Amino acid sequence: MLLLDSPTKDSRTRICLFVSIALLMLATPFAVAQNHKPKTRSASEPAEKTSPTAKRDRDPAIVQIIKDVSPQQARQTDEKLVSFGTRSTLSVNNPDAATSQQGIVAARNWIKAEFEKISADCNGCLEVKTDTFIEQPKGPNDRIKQPTEIQNVYAILKGTDPAQAKRIYLVTGHYDSRRTDVMDSTNPAPGANDDGSGTTVSIECARAVSKHKFPATIIFLTVAGEEQGLNGSTHFAKMAKEQGWQLEGVLNNDIVGGNTTPGDTLQNKNWVRVYSEGIPSAATDAELRRIKATGGESDSPSRELARYIHGVSETYDFGSFIPKLMFRRDRYLRGGDHISFNEQGFAAVRFTEYREDYNHQHQNVRTENGIEYGDLPKFVDFEYVANVARLNAATLAALASSPAPPSDVHLLTKQLENDSKIQWKPAPGATAYEVLWRKTTDADFPEENLQRTTDTKVDLTDSKDNVIFGVRSVDAKGHRSLIVIPEPER
Ligand SMILES: [Zn+2]
Repeated sequence: MLLLDSPTKDSRTRICLFVSIALLMLATPFAVAQNHKPKTRSASEPAEKTSPTAKRDRDPAIVQIIKDVSPQQARQTDEKLVSFGTRSTLSVNNPDAATSQQGIVAARNWIKAEFEKISADCNGCLEVKTDTFIEQPKGPNDRIKQPTEIQNVYAILKGTDPAQAKRIYLVTGHYDSRRTDVMDSTNPAPGANDDGSGTTVSIECARAVSKHKFPATIIFLTVAGEEQGLNGSTHFAKMAKEQGWQLEGVLNNDIVGGNTTPGDTLQNKNWVRVYSEGIPSAATDAELRRIKATGGESDSPSRELARYIHGVSETYDFGSFIPKLMFRRDRYLRGGDHISFNEQGFAAVRFTEYREDYNHQHQNVRTENGIEYGDLPKFVDFEYVANVARLNAATLAALASSPAPPSDVHLLTKQLENDSKIQWKPAPGATAYEVLWRKTTDADFPEENLQRTTDTKVDLTDSKDNVIFGVRSVDAKGHRSLIVIPEPER
């Protein structure tokens, strides 16, 4: 996010800059020409003074959304999910599944009713839907042994701008749970953290975000079958691909309960990890060649989404709570529902608590040698869940408020030159564009490396060999789109 400094700090920065430049000119007259900051040579407009830390561009609606997320409500939602005893995906096949108040059918019916209740509170603003299918067993090692009905439950907050409503941002969590034995469909599997917490985040986002309207569309999704093999999210992501959805970002929340074990001093409740893939899972051979040739290993759309989340955390007030970006697809050798979306070519990231406690995941509820096992609500911190929900809700709202990202963004490489010429197509809703750059060794785009223009091209003196460029759209109120990395054009 672009942030603008306070006037005092701004002028201080300017004085510092002036003094530094003056000293530099005295000491090394030739160094000035080598100044690493690109300067525009296009006729568009002069560089605008920007700096990274002020909060001028805060959207009051998003400030309100952050306030409206309630830890008490998050606790109620999570405890309700736990009350279904087990949410094993396989419990749909139990003889009394349709009528029992225990099991995944009762849970999914409740989630649907809860979305409908939230919709009733916003004059029917949500379209509540289910995506139901039969998963067939795929082999002897499959965690589905017989044809099994799986249902994803979701609510759509349709965008209000006909030109932008096709753009979709989505939040998800998996509402199925499991025991030590993943095939056990009858005994207690509370799943308060894995993934009652993520399901709660999706539902609480719906509650807070649906009080507002946005140009683009937001979907609040809860999926099943995650523990059996990402079945629900795989089906949903394929449906989105087949139907040509313009799904621009997926926020997967899985194990976001802020596990609290008495005596554990290593958990950090101020941090939530955000995982994003580097090389896109769905990259074609041509795309892989381009990534190799341009140094694009850390610029997948998923990674730009992760950087966006970080930007939201810097713009709005989440107290001491911050996302810690993890530059890998998921935890070491592990996976989750965002990967289903990655594999269909969508930008998707995973939120997960800073430090997991494996005694409280996938474990039968019991006490052994004084150690308590099981995924119970008493180990979940609902202030933490609310913080994760606030960051998700603010990110969804910021994305759905933003103009479309620029399209056809190209770095012109017809001839070898040290300049960097970038051009793009106008984006619906955009009033200006920002070209950002970072050193190849930097993790993120520093907000001070920024050229703003109302034109759809720039000509920068810095060399594309030395920095990574990105372009984003901006609207009149300061909403920023996701960053798009230019493709080379010969
Ligand atoms: Zn999980």
